[in-house]
Amino acid sequence: MTGTFKAILVTRDENKKQSVAVTSLSEADLMDGDVTVTIDATTVNYKDGLAITGLAPVVRRFPLIPGIDFAGTVRDSAHPDWKPGDKVILNGWGTGETHHGAFAEISRVKGDWLVPLPDGMSARDAMAVGTAGYTAMLAVMALERHGIDRDRGPVVVTGAAGGVGSVAIAILSRLGYRVIASTGRLSESDYLTDLGASEIIAREELSGPARPLAKERWAGGIDAVGSHTLANVLSMTSYGGAVAACGLAGGMDLPTSVAPFILRGVSLLGIDSVMAPKALRLEAWRRIASELDHRKLARLSTTIGFDGILQAGRDIVEGKIRGRVVVEM
Ligand code: NDP
Repeated sequence: MTGTFKAILVTRDENKKQSVAVTSLSEADLMDGDVTVTIDATTVNYKDGLAITGLAPVVRRFPLIPGIDFAGTVRDSAHPDWKPGDKVILNGWGTGETHHGAFAEISRVKGDWLVPLPDGMSARDAMAVGTAGYTAMLAVMALERHGIDRDRGPVVVTGAAGGVGSVAIAILSRLGYRVIASTGRLSESDYLTDLGASEIIAREELSGPARPLAKERWAGGIDAVGSHTLANVLSMTSYGGAVAACGLAGGMDLPTSVAPFILRGVSLLGIDSVMAPKALRLEAWRRIASELDHRKLARLSTTIGFDGILQAGRDIVEGKIRGRVVVEM
């Protein structure tokens, strides 16, 4: 590679109006870091869609290359853990928010942020999982830590046809859970069943204002939607159950009551992928590599090129993307 590279750049004018474009940058434009990585694959997550469209203040430093995750090959390293040629994954740590991110041919980051690409996993597969899928695994692990095993009862997954939802269904079904998938796209029922959902329910069943307590329907939940949906999931969780909250595709509010917590002992488990400690990341990626069915990963992901990133970013915030989108560089 020469001294310049292709990148997407988010900028802001004097009126704080945000815009985004494909551009050419030089290596001198990269931010501080002790490892430079050639990006082999990246992906478009919901948060990337928010960064590209400016619908939420994801980008907090300008100008900035968006993109919260990548799989790549180490080119230069001054970090003791990494040497040229190593295959690595990066999720979060502020990349694509305050540090130049993944929508570029190269990236310079802190070596402490990287984890090794698991043996036998390609860069493409890692990004078919991406931050959405790694978050789904963090949510499954949180439910397990709370004792929600497959014998306790079904687990509901909201935003089921999206990235977090699709991977969560594939993982849970592989682990033997009975999965109830909630979707606004009933036309995707065959897709969700193929991933491992046992039952499909319409988004509308969970999108209205929640009663403090409703009929017990599941032992656990993985929620990517927030707002009324999360409130309903909580109110329908059986005694002693738990819900892992990881998303806000339906809203950032949570119009609930304390009833599920104090009358049914339900727990609300918060899931954050961005600052998750390294040991948890390594465990999540180890389990993804060993427990996620490759056939299902292929079924839930599509591939685009660099030139498709901006459109995919607009599509994902409109709920138009099914499963996961991989960007092969
Ligand atoms: P996707 O867009 O792929 O999936 C979101 C899904 O939510 C959609 O596919 C749709 O599913 C459903 N949905 C969208 N809009 C609405 C709405 N208005 N009301 C109800 N349901 C809706 O995004 P991701 O899966 O990548 O991310 C999901 C959420 O998780 C996002 O909010 C994202 O920011 C968050 N996230 C959080 C992380 C963390 O660290 N906590 C990490 C990764 C993601 P369907 O069509 O099936 O109804």
